[in-house]
Amino acid sequence: MQRKSLDMTRSPVDGTSSERGPLFRSRALLLFGATGDLARRMLLPSLFNLHHEGLLPADFEILATARSSLNDDAFRLFASTAIRAVIPVERLAESAINDFLRKLRYVRTDVSDTTDCVNLAAALRADQRQNLAIFLSTAPQLFEQTISGLRHAGLASTQTRVGLEKPLGTDLQSSRFINDAVMRVFAEENIFRIDHYLGKETVQNLLALRFGNSLFEPLWNSSGIDHIQITIAETVGLEGRTAYFDQSGVLRDMVQNHMLQLLALIAMEPPTHFNATAVRDEKVKVLRSLRPFDHESVLRDTVIGQYVSGTIGNGVVPGYVDELDKASITETFVALKVHIDNWRWRGVPFYLRTGKRMPARRSEIFVQFKPVPHSIFEERGSALSANKLVLRLQPEEYVRLLVMTKEPGLDREGVLLRELPLDLSLTTAFSGRRRIAYERLLLDLIEGDSTLFVRRDEVEAQWRWIDAIRAGWMRTGMFPEPYAAGTWGPSAALALIARDDASWHALNT
Ligand code: NAP
Repeated sequence: MQRKSLDMTRSPVDGTSSERGPLFRSRALLLFGATGDLARRMLLPSLFNLHHEGLLPADFEILATARSSLNDDAFRLFASTAIRAVIPVERLAESAINDFLRKLRYVRTDVSDTTDCVNLAAALRADQRQNLAIFLSTAPQLFEQTISGLRHAGLASTQTRVGLEKPLGTDLQSSRFINDAVMRVFAEENIFRIDHYLGKETVQNLLALRFGNSLFEPLWNSSGIDHIQITIAETVGLEGRTAYFDQSGVLRDMVQNHMLQLLALIAMEPPTHFNATAVRDEKVKVLRSLRPFDHESVLRDTVIGQYVSGTIGNGVVPGYVDELDKASITETFVALKVHIDNWRWRGVPFYLRTGKRMPARRSEIFVQFKPVPHSIFEERGSALSANKLVLRLQPEEYVRLLVMTKEPGLDREGVLLRELPLDLSLTTAFSGRRRIAYERLLLDLIEGDSTLFVRRDEVEAQWRWIDAIRAGWMRTGMFPEPYAAGTWGPSAALALIARDDASWHALNT
């Protein structure tokens, strides 16, 4: 039902192959990294949900593959355990699980071994090979050999789509290397680069809010908006991703992809159509308009931190280097003041912050509108707060517009105004469960709609901007400042925004 209504919003020109990729539905999914953490926690439960709701073709099969020596039964047991750990018990009818498990097969494959890849291809029926979706949920270092193994095995037809998990490289150069390798085999329209934030309902709601209402867009510029904040705060520390994270840091792990994608959706011009080309054309213009940091601005407008031991909730947690068990200068927190150099956003700062071991797990977009030009209430003793729009992405999903309202009464003591929320809670407004972001993305991959996937030029614009920040940190000798776990980062992050007479939106609620 939900998908149908979304499809109806597409314009007729959206159905051409150049706009949406070739119009074929995959008959099978080849899932690399099927025994990994992402497959266990997200992909297999998402595929189960899609199957449960009848969204996968009746004869659809999932060919799971990894290095571990498993047979079909052992992998089905792994998948069953994964699904039961994630899906609420009321959705877990035994018949539904068993029906789904029958769609799974497992073929052990080491992607560095071309014979394994040929055997993998042989496990697919001819019609599946011709209409295939592939999802690479493995370390990106394996992408090149996986892609060449696929080509060698004859699995790289024009009817094959390939989904790539992040991170796509560690800088512009390595990302180009990966993209070149993939594009030697697959056309851009068949490459689906995943940023799972784009699969979140509230993120898509940002588009509905901006372009489905006449209310916001006239104010959505430097005349109406004072500044915008984007926060992604995690309470977790390393969570076992030690080697990866210490090489990466939050700038590359969070800002390069999720935060810049959110920023692009917030800041882009209205696309002419709701399709992959039009939306991504507008996003990339924003990404190319990001003002690069120079020596001076990197020192003034960026803050990096690393957590030391502190308290989250009722528990004491160790510091980053204690968890890591070695010295490190990797940043676990970053705050940035960002400018977009175009007509719409001239003079409107975007404040971005993300960190680990924060007091609460929160992802949020906060839009601070400008105050009214003249207050008629001041002489009646009431102060006004400028309007604010909050899009909460995590842990709950809601859109909240904060407006001034008059407190009921006879006003003998003056007119009392109060800021109250106009609330659009997605959980209560719509029946139905909250979906895993990957459900949407996996279905789009299978059906060939790349609107919510990231194009190569976007990835490269993101890396170019991020690389310049890292180069600036290196040139200026900036090191992370310590902050106690359970706090909102180093005090310099407060100063970063306070200098502009603003403050971070309180996220404790
Ligand atoms: P993981 O737990 O380390 O799993 C890696 C998978 O790759 C395993 O299934 C492993 O198989 C397989 N593999 C390793 N070497 C292989 C080879 N030579 N040939 C074939 N298969 C091989 O990784 P993950 O956490 O699931 O992450 C997968 C991808 O998603 C990574 O790119 C990661 O950055 C990205 N990602 C993960 C998360 C997350 O929450 N986990 C979030 C965002 C992005 P065996 O175990 O059988 O050897």
